[in-house]
Amino acid sequence: MSVKISPRIKLAAKSEDRESTQVTVGDVLIGGEKIVVIAGPCSVESREQIIEAARAVKAAGASMLRGGAFKPRTLPYSFQGHGVKGLKMLAEARDETGLPVVTEVMDPADVKTVEDYTDVLQVGARNVQNYPLLKRLGEAGKPVLLKRGLASTVEEWLSAAEYILHGGNPDVILCERGIRSFGKLTRFTLDLAVVPLLKEVSHLPVVVDPSHGTGVRSLVSPMSKAAVAAGADGLIVEVHPNPEEAMSDGPQSLRPPEFMALMEELKPVARSVKRVVAGR
Ligand code: PEP
Ligand code: MN
Repeated sequence: MSVKISPRIKLAAKSEDRESTQVTVGDVLIGGEKIVVIAGPCSVESREQIIEAARAVKAAGASMLRGGAFKPRTLPYSFQGHGVKGLKMLAEARDETGLPVVTEVMDPADVKTVEDYTDVLQVGARNVQNYPLLKRLGEAGKPVLLKRGLASTVEEWLSAAEYILHGGNPDVILCERGIRSFGKLTRFTLDLAVVPLLKEVSHLPVVVDPSHGTGVRSLVSPMSKAAVAAGADGLIVEVHPNPEEAMSDGPQSLRPPEFMALMEELKPVARSVKRVVAGR
């Protein structure tokens, strides 16, 4: 038996003439033979912090840098991100290291500005049903990393991708980042079965976020390896030079030496599924 999705999902669905899509970001190809690792802090906190993080993840072999400037926080009292100032710091880290960058955009009115500073536009889990944003991203000239919503079914998630594709932007990367379940010991439940499932029903590349998916530092490396074994095209991992001081998501952030070890451990796992970890 194989999985079938609604025939109303057209552009995100796999078909005979569209088996797989590769998204190009500078010199990085997502959805090809090479597994792409995106890494960096949850939030861009300062110029020094993002440059230090960028250098560390590059030294470990990451292909791209992540870092949030517009942060979707549960409470209004939490750090909301540095906004445009944060985008500028991120762009500086890119210039410094040559790593393409991924950052979140929440408001359709900010898409133009964020696009000017970043290489990939991230839609966060909380915004996967922000339809004005999805429509606006259909007109964007940069690829979109579309996270799964906290409670999105696969068809709802693919329907969100459909908005971006229908709007004219063919470059969508799906990102599994855990869904709500009943366990309290992890932040979310990382749904790894969705990786081979998406490979059956969609042509879009799939990356996995084991950081938000678990919320627990010690679980990030095991789940990263499991994601690669399950067929993910890439990973997005939170790495912070000093997680104890992080302004967001410190408890799930790897320290640079832990990330370095993970990058080594991924190699044989990638080989076992006839892939290689992209290097720089
Ligand atoms: C993030 O990437 O830092 C983030 C907020 O992720 P999510 O939208 O998956 O919670
Ligand atoms: Mn985070």
